[in-house]
Amino acid sequence: MASKKCKCGKSACSNCSQLKLVFLLKHQFKTTDHNPVWYSFIKEETKSTQALIQYMLNRAKNSPYVGKTNCIIIYHNQTNKQLLKTNI
Ligand SMILES: [Zn+2]
Repeated sequence: MASKKCKCGKSACSNCSQLKLVFLLKHQFKTTDHNPVWYSFIKEETKSTQALIQYMLNRAKNSPYVGKTNCIIIYHNQTNKQLLKTNI
């Protein structure tokens, strides 16, 4: 059975998650200097990378950031390789 938390005890982790999703907000929607960042869920790590990307996209499309980004970019969190750039 897949673990729900990483070794740090988190359900989504900047160190351990496979994927990182960055919302590049349009400037008028920025409330801080930082763009929102999401990490893929540890409980989903046993799925394929393509499935994880789809899960993150589906969640992003239901987020408060829809219509407020120039784009979103999904990176492989361990290598920082860009996997997908799109908009929501
Ligand atoms: Zn961790």
